[in-house]
Amino acid sequence: METKLAIVIPCYNEAKVLPTTAGMFLDKLNHLISTYGLNQESFILFIDDGSTDQTWELIQSFHQKDPIHYHGLKGSRNRGHQNALLGGLMTVRKYCDVTISIDCDGQDDLDAMDEMIQQYQNGCDIVYGVRNDRTTDSWFKRFSAQSFYKLLNSMGAKVIYNHADYRLMSSKALDGLSHFKEVNIYLRGMVPMVGFKSTSVFYARAKRIAGESHYPFSKMLGLAMDGITSLSVKPLQLISLLGMVISLISFIGLLWSLITYFLGSTITGWTSMVAILCFVSGIQLLCIGVLGEYIGKIYMETKHRPRFIFSDNTIDHAIHQDE
Ligand code: UDP
Ligand code: MG
Repeated sequence: METKLAIVIPCYNEAKVLPTTAGMFLDKLNHLISTYGLNQESFILFIDDGSTDQTWELIQSFHQKDPIHYHGLKGSRNRGHQNALLGGLMTVRKYCDVTISIDCDGQDDLDAMDEMIQQYQNGCDIVYGVRNDRTTDSWFKRFSAQSFYKLLNSMGAKVIYNHADYRLMSSKALDGLSHFKEVNIYLRGMVPMVGFKSTSVFYARAKRIAGESHYPFSKMLGLAMDGITSLSVKPLQLISLLGMVISLISFIGLLWSLITYFLGSTITGWTSMVAILCFVSGIQLLCIGVLGEYIGKIYMETKHRPRFIFSDNTIDHAIHQDE
């Protein structure tokens, strides 16, 4: 049986960029079909993540022009890139043998797909696309992304350095991923936990073809928080450690105050008192905040809300929701 490929592409308000990149994806798909003997009915799946512009109309027009190679799923509302992508992957795994997920803005080099397919044909179930160069990113984006990777690793979460969500996954690996039921999702951290034979291919990242990034600093910070809290409990352990260190310092402070008391110099400084109070209460609030983050996450997990809901779809009209 020939391998059927699905290229899975989340799109949010991408009407400016889709008319250009949709053709690029189709050219690449045709090239992959003919070069690697893939199934002729391999296809591209766009997931419209609740866009408010013409994105869904564009996807529908692509599907009308070429109903075999272009498909679309429409989210019932904007859920964010991770949910849109997971929804697409979970839906499509029943209709193909292998998937490649990629952003729709043309930033990731499509030519890396050739090597991904070759690695799949060599027996890999997961192939990570890794940027070997970030020169097209702004200094700030580069710095914040690299600090985040370092922070995650120091928290014990295993993520692939400089890999975003450009990756090949076989339907076998996706079946594995489907057993991860968490709602607080961070795919870059979850996929390595699925296991299977995996490897990386390297590519240079370009600038966005059109439109603007949907990841301003506040969203990046949110994703970073999700990444850390969904992958690691190290912050909780750090709180305990901090508690111990502060207790030790307090104990030394207590000894010091007793000694000065017994030596007769009882005039203790008001400034040092206030400084210690502020310091300790600040640390306590920070720790409560970290605990709160985890409690919030537990709260969301216990609700078992669906991670994605689709309101329209060109693949199978029966599919609308997370299982
Ligand atoms: N995206 C999405 N939902 C969102 C935000 C973004 O599906 O709420 C998609 C977006 O259309 C793009 C991909 O996620 O295909 C990555 O977004 P973007 O290019 O804006 O991020 P950046 O490359 O700047 O990190
Ligand atoms: Mg982008």
